[in-house]
Amino acid sequence: MILRIDSLTFRYPNGTTALDGVSFGVEAGERVALVGPNGAGKSTLARHLIGIERPASGTIEIDGRRTDGLAIAELARTVGFVFQNPDDQLHASSVAKEVGFGPRNLRFAPDRRKELVESALRRTGLTDLVDAHPHHLSLGERKRVALASVLAMDTPVVVLDEPTTGQDHRSVALLGNLVDELAAEGRTVLAVTHDMDFCAEHFDRVIALEDGRIVADGPVEHWLARA
Ligand code: ADP
Ligand code: ADP
Repeated sequence: MILRIDSLTFRYPNGTTALDGVSFGVEAGERVALVGPNGAGKSTLARHLIGIERPASGTIEIDGRRTDGLAIAELARTVGFVFQNPDDQLHASSVAKEVGFGPRNLRFAPDRRKELVESALRRTGLTDLVDAHPHHLSLGERKRVALASVLAMDTPVVVLDEPTTGQDHRSVALLGNLVDELAAEGRTVLAVTHDMDFCAEHFDRVIALEDGRIVADGPVEHWLARA
């Protein structure tokens, strides 16, 4: 099991309980959609996976290791996170530099780095935009740059926050293909999404949160039949 969350509870300093006894496990290669109304705790859960938040109680195990003791930099080798708003994660002055940043930071060898960057650019349809400044690109393109920069880190788990928001039809199709490919390679995709069509087509399993608790967890067909 690539990801195991056990009795995870988290409170913000103002006393809001954002996660209340959340437990689930995810196998390598699973495509899991995380759904639920605003305020359900989806982002808080995602933030725990990359170590921005730490459990008040309960545990998170990723790839057999508890995350409590792991630094954010260490977690970054295992979990890649694509923010909903790409401008929260784009810093570099060109698409090439942006996508190259992660693999360099993780100290992959130059050959491997080149391979990862080229593959990430190809898979996100950005090869022709390598020299562009991310800030000069459209929102949809910037979202693809953010995605490419995470793909290039070659993490076993990829977390996407509202990946289809602000994307045109073609980019959504590209994204869906990519989700399927990653899963076929044995990588795990977890997406926070409101997009039920996207879920129906590209995800195996839906975990629904409400008020910080899991209210449904099962095959996507069950969720669609319910909704
Ligand atoms: P979702 O992503 O499902 O919309 P969140 O994880 O953002 O839900 O929020 C879960 C709960 O935590 C909500 O009640 C929200 O108001 C609260 N919350 C989120 N961020 C903060 C914060 N920084 N400080 C206090 N409460 C927060
Ligand atoms: P330059 O100004 O030389 O063109 P960049 O624009 O590539 O440099 O990067 C500016 C700074 O932002 C550098 O210190 C770089 O390490 C940092 N940086 C670039 N990309 C990222 C990223 N994805 N996440 C965090 N920091 C980044």
